[in-house]
This record gives sequence, structure tokens and C-alpha cells, in this order.
Amino acid sequence: MDLAFPHVFLWTLLAFLLTWTVFYVNNRRKKVAKLPDAATEVRRDGDADVIIVGAGVGGSALAYALAKDGRRVHVIERDMREPVRMMGEFMQPGGRLLLSKLGLEDSLEGIDEQIATGLAVYKDGQKALVSFPEDNDFPYEPTGRAFYNGRFVQRLRQKASSLPTVQLEEGTVKSLIEEKGVIKGVTYKNSAGEETTAFAPLTVVCDGCYSNLRRSVNDNNAEVISYQVGYVSKNCQLEDPEKLKLIMSKPSFTMLYQISSTDVRCVMEIFPGNIPSISNGEMAAYLKNTMAPQVPPELRKIFLKGIDEGAQIKAMPTKRMEATLSEKQGVIVLGDAFNMRHPAIASGMMVVLSDILILRRLLQPLRNLSDANKISEVIKSFYVIRKPMSATVNTLGNAFSQVLIASTDEAKEAMRQGCFDYLSSGGFRTSGMMALLGGMNPRPLSLIFHLCGITLSSIGQLLSPFPSPLGIWHSLRLFGAEGVSQMLSPAYAAAYRKSHMATTAL
Ligand SMILES: Cc1cc2nc3c(=O)[nH]c(=O)nc-3n(C[C@H](O)[C@H](O)[C@H](O)COP(=O)(O)OP(=O)(O)OC[C@H]3O[C@@H](n4cnc5c(N)ncnc54)[C@H](O)[C@@H]3O)c2cc1C
Repeated sequence: MDLAFPHVFLWTLLAFLLTWTVFYVNNRRKKVAKLPDAATEVRRDGDADVIIVGAGVGGSALAYALAKDGRRVHVIERDMREPVRMMGEFMQPGGRLLLSKLGLEDSLEGIDEQIATGLAVYKDGQKALVSFPEDNDFPYEPTGRAFYNGRFVQRLRQKASSLPTVQLEEGTVKSLIEEKGVIKGVTYKNSAGEETTAFAPLTVVCDGCYSNLRRSVNDNNAEVISYQVGYVSKNCQLEDPEKLKLIMSKPSFTMLYQISSTDVRCVMEIFPGNIPSISNGEMAAYLKNTMAPQVPPELRKIFLKGIDEGAQIKAMPTKRMEATLSEKQGVIVLGDAFNMRHPAIASGMMVVLSDILILRRLLQPLRNLSDANKISEVIKSFYVIRKPMSATVNTLGNAFSQVLIASTDEAKEAMRQGCFDYLSSGGFRTSGMMALLGGMNPRPLSLIFHLCGITLSSIGQLLSPFPSPLGIWHSLRLFGAEGVSQMLSPAYAAAYRKSHMATTAL
């Protein structure tokens, strides 16, 4: 017994030591294993107040605006290189004013940007020079800027990432993380190719016109209206470069503008269904043989230069998509992922900047963004407050693009001529229309007033030199289903395009 006691004691001590060692090692392992979870948890609790998907025009400007208000912003952008694309190359005077209100006016400086004071409009040998009005109540310099979009986007990204509370990371967002109808964050592939997550009380989807993510928030669908086909003619300068050249050609408009001190953008609208192939050279031949003869002689050499030098021809779909309010909480969709209109009036960037300004002001009173119900209220107010401006711009884009489509129908052709006459008539008509087009006065009443004015001008065209029965009939059509109502209604506009595509061969 006496010998057995120390034996048992020793064995018990050994067992205790062993158990303790196993427990200790195991526990340490668990602690180490817990570290990544803890890191995730820290992130979940909110390294960022806001996650922004996409650092294009909207995402970068929003990151800057929110960070200026002290928010911690995590921006995830799939490609940090300078974008090379054929969109967002002209900022209207109204857009420049909004940039200045956001403190971003210098992002349009030092990028070889070109001043634009108005338009040179061409139709069937006629030419009109029209300027953005100077005697308007508009509180900013009444000029626009043309530039390479990629340079502008890089400047916006630099501005955003210069603020200490902005984390601008390269990565591709794969999906939104949703819990019980509330968006909590995103899963994304970072630049090392690892799948990872980020959490924040508010996620802003700003991933552009090809957005994949908007479908998990909204059920609105984009409609492809037409294609913008274009290229750059290098090492040349337009005569009177401060006027963007708008040619009322067939099947629709053609534009030429100085995009840098040495380069000229040539772009035109073509409709789906019969688009020549770019890859096999049919498009270049079409531009040369069908479009170039319609370009006024003083611009033709520059128009042909790019084609002859083998400039890369691009085709961008023109999309239209109405804005819809999402049921989901903790998320907001902005920019082209939210709302698109015809680019004939080059105002998409202006709308997104206006939206950012409104959203920022609505968020400013909230100390933190963690109350999903309060954020939902903000989003609902945002949706209402943005309407007058966005509806005016969207409707103008729709109406203006309709008027620019050539037609064999006498009433529609009168509308086209009426638009040219109205724009070039001088006085309050020209200044009013240019203030609308320049985003200097984006008000619904002004829009309706000038659209009615164009219709009356078109009717004058049909009834001169004296009213014939056919002229009266076409005039009545302009006031009814073919006129203002058609221009204002998207449903009519879609029908118009369909009939145009059926009757017009390229
Ligand atoms: C042909 C054409 C011409 C136009 N011309 C003009 C014009 O002259 N003036 C004007 O004001 N407007 C113009 N617009 C409209 C304007 O370009 C857009 O309204 C504007 O660029 C929208 O900004 P955005 O931030 O929503 O999208 P974008 O500027 O396109 O930015 C989207 C960003 O999201 C990133 N992204 C996409 N998916 C992901 C993902 N899954 N994860 C991470 N990042 C992602 C993209 O890389 C991109 O950087 C034009 C449009 C078209 C189609």
C-alpha cells in the first residue's frame, strides 16, 4: 500500500500534466484559428460606413463626397487602369456646376480638356451656330468641357483616394450579402484572386451600364434603343473647335467634337437590325460611302481621316432604363445601373452628379448609417427629390433623340426641320433650348414649353406658304399622336423606333 501511493500520485500528476498540456495546446490552436474570424468580425462591425461597388464617374465622385463628410468609404473597383471607352466625353455646363458643388471641379482640369461654348448644327446644307446662354440665372460659367473619359475617371479616382477615409481597392464584386432582406455587404475577388467579404451598413451599387448586381436589387430592365458607332481622328483640329458639330444626317444624327487638342471624336447613331460588321470592314465601308457624303464638306476631311488611318471603330449600345425603388434595405443603386437615358443630350454624368449631391445632403444629418430603417427613409426621399431633374433630362433625351431620326413621313420630317428652325431662330427660343440642353435649367415646365414651341414651329413649316388640306392633316397629327405627346411618352417613342426600323434600310 505504502509503495502504491506514490505510484498512484505520480501517475495522477503525469495524467494531470498531460491533460493540461493537451488542453493548453488545443486552446492555443483554437485561439490562432479564431484570428481570421476575429478579423472578419472587426470588419463586419464596420471598418467602413459605406461600400461602393465601382469607381467610375459615379462611384468615385460619391466616395469623395461621403468621405468629405467624414464617412469611412470602401470602394471596390474591378479595373484601376485608365478606362478606354466611348462614353461620358462631354460635361454639360450644368454638370460642371454640380462638380463644383461637390468640390470636384478641378478633376476636369489638366486633362487636355476642350472648352465648348455651344453647337454648330447642320441640316441639308443649312448651318446654325448656337451658344449656351450667358444672360441666364445660371450661377456658373456657361461652357461645357469635352475630354477623354478615362482621364476624367482617373482624376476622380485620385481625388477620392487622396482622402484618408477612402480605401480604394481593386477587386471584382461577385454578389451582395443579404440577411432577411437587408444587404449587409459584398463578396468579392481581390487583386490576389482570393474570394473575400466586406461589410458595411450601406452598400452603393454603382457598377455602370452593364451592371450585373442591380438585378439582385431591382427588377427593372434596360432596353437597347440603338448603337453609337464611333472612332477618333487623330492629329487634327476642327474649325471653330469650341462648337460641337451636330449633323442631322440619316438614319439619325452624327457628331464631331474636339476631344483633346489634337483628336476629334466622330460618332453617329445606327439602329439595331441592320448594323454592318466592324470586324470584316463593312462598317468602315458604310461610314465612308453612306455617312461621309452626308457630312458637310468643311468637316469631311477630318471625318474620313480616322477611317482612312484605320482608327478602331467602336459600337456602344444606347440603353434606356427607368429608375425603380428597391424593396431591399441597406442598399442603393446609382448611376447607369439605376437610370439610363438616350445619350443624344450627353447628360448621364450630370444626372449621377445631381443624384450624389441629393443623397449626400440627405445622409448628412445621420451620425451613423447603421439604422436600416432610417436609411430606407433617406432612399425613399432621394427617389422623390431627384424626380423633377432626372425626369426633365430623361424626357429631353428621349424627345431630342426622336426628333433627330430621319423619316420619309412628312409630319416627322417637318418636326425635324421645326427643331432645326427653333434652335437656330435666336432669342428666347435658342437660349431656352440651349439652357435645357446644357442642364442649366432642367425644369419640367421649361421642357414642356419648348417642346410645344418646336411643335408649333413644325406646324408653321407644314402650313407654309399656305395651308393645304394635307398640311392641315399632318399638323393635326403633330399635335396628336405624332407630336408632343409622342415625344414625351416612352411607349410612343418605342413604337416610333420600331416603325422607323421597319421602314428605313441602312
Ligand atoms: C455611347 C454613350 C455616350 C455617352 N456620352 C455621355 C456624355 O458625353 N456626357 C454624359 O454626361 N454622359 C454620357 N453618357 C452617359 C455616362 O457615360 C454615364 O451616365 C456615366 O458614365 C455613368 O457613370 P457610372 O458611375 O454609373 O458608370 P461607369 O462610369 O461606367 O462606372 C462603372 C464602374 O464600375 C466598375 N465595375 C463594374 N462591375 C463591377 C464589379 N462587379 N465589381 C467592381 N467594379 C465593377 C467598372 O469597371 C466601372 O469603373 C454616355 C453614355 C453612352 C452609352
